Amino acid sequence: ISSASQTSSSEGASGEEKKERMKRVLSGVQPTGSIHLGNYFGAIQNYVKLQDEHEAFYCVVDLHAITAGGHSPKELEESTRKSAAIYLAAGVSPEKASVFVQSHVAAHSELCWLLNCVSPIGWLEKMIQFKEKARKQGEDVSVGLLDYPVLMAADILLYNADLVPVGEDQRQHLELTRDIAGRFNNLYGGNKWKKRGKNEKSPSGRFRGKDVLIVPEAFTPKSGGRVMSLTDGSAKMSKSNPAEGSRINVLDSPDVIAQKIKRCKTDAIEGMNYDDERPEAKNLLTMYELCTGMSREEVLNECASMRWGEFKPALTEVVVDHLKPIQEKYEEIMNEEGYLDSVLEQGAVRANEVAEKTCADVRDAMGFVHR
Ligand code: ATP
Repeated sequence: ISSASQTSSSEGASGEEKKERMKRVLSGVQPTGSIHLGNYFGAIQNYVKLQDEHEAFYCVVDLHAITAGGHSPKELEESTRKSAAIYLAAGVSPEKASVFVQSHVAAHSELCWLLNCVSPIGWLEKMIQFKEKARKQGEDVSVGLLDYPVLMAADILLYNADLVPVGEDQRQHLELTRDIAGRFNNLYGGNKWKKRGKNEKSPSGRFRGKDVLIVPEAFTPKSGGRVMSLTDGSAKMSKSNPAEGSRINVLDSPDVIAQKIKRCKTDAIEGMNYDDERPEAKNLLTMYELCTGMSREEVLNECASMRWGEFKPALTEVVVDHLKPIQEKYEEIMNEEGYLDSVLEQGAVRANEVAEKTCADVRDAMGFVHR
């Protein structure tokens, strides 16, 4: 977080001038299932930290959630509402951040299309997540899945985001966003005309000497950037893993958490340490650290001498304790009629304001005729 100062003074997208405004943060989670500890520690916890000193936009990225193909409409709706409620329950404040649903802001789809036309297919085919998911889906893989990172680039660039808090798994997509923004600026930004030294003007003349799109930075947490699966220490914890026991969901009951930790993969070594050769022990100690807020050293003082049989109940206790207030708040939010909808409505209004301006700039720079 220290890399983010309170205000930003970079020249950029002319519609939303970045001069002397608070730095902006944008991020989102796909409503593809229950939010788990990986999403929570890798992303949502940072949403809460960053909202105080940044102008924050946190969305539930439902358009991304359908890229796997053949989703259940009922589950998409439920999962979208649940995800938004978890953001709030985890401490995201609608007073400080705009919380909204991606499909409520049409500019995401429009900018995605415009960026599609400057994004080489070869760049998308190289994405590790695409390759992994496409391998599993075979011939059924959708164009949407290939296009996922361009939609993500549109999400970020619409808000001229300075900072994007994401887990390690999204770093490559962030790099691609930077490349797409750079390519767009080279093709249509005002610097192109300046560099060539021609008297030629960009379509509106408003972009002379300026970039149209702001190139963002990734913000990955030091720990929690990659929480691993409980059943396979070498795979990340993920919503789309068919093995329910591979993840701890933020809304899991204490009994379910105890069962999952009891059954999780271990090794035959006595005592606990953060050894890279022991991915299971390292992952669970990291979870302990994240749930208690303790340093590695403190965790080791407490747990190094424990056997698995002692450590597992201790971990269960700290996970349950950490999640309890979030689960209670979640119930409150879901039981207050109309509250969630009003938060999402308010978030969509603000998000549309900003996103529409950027989209208008992009259309303008590309030479589309004004309405
Ligand atoms: P899916 O399985 O549907 O692809 P996912 O569980 O991988 O979903 P996303 O919705 O793609 O999660 O990601 C939401 C946010 O959570 C992103 O910022 C991502 O980097 C972060 N995240 C996801 N999984 C992990 C993980 N295991 N550890 C840390 N961060 C994670």
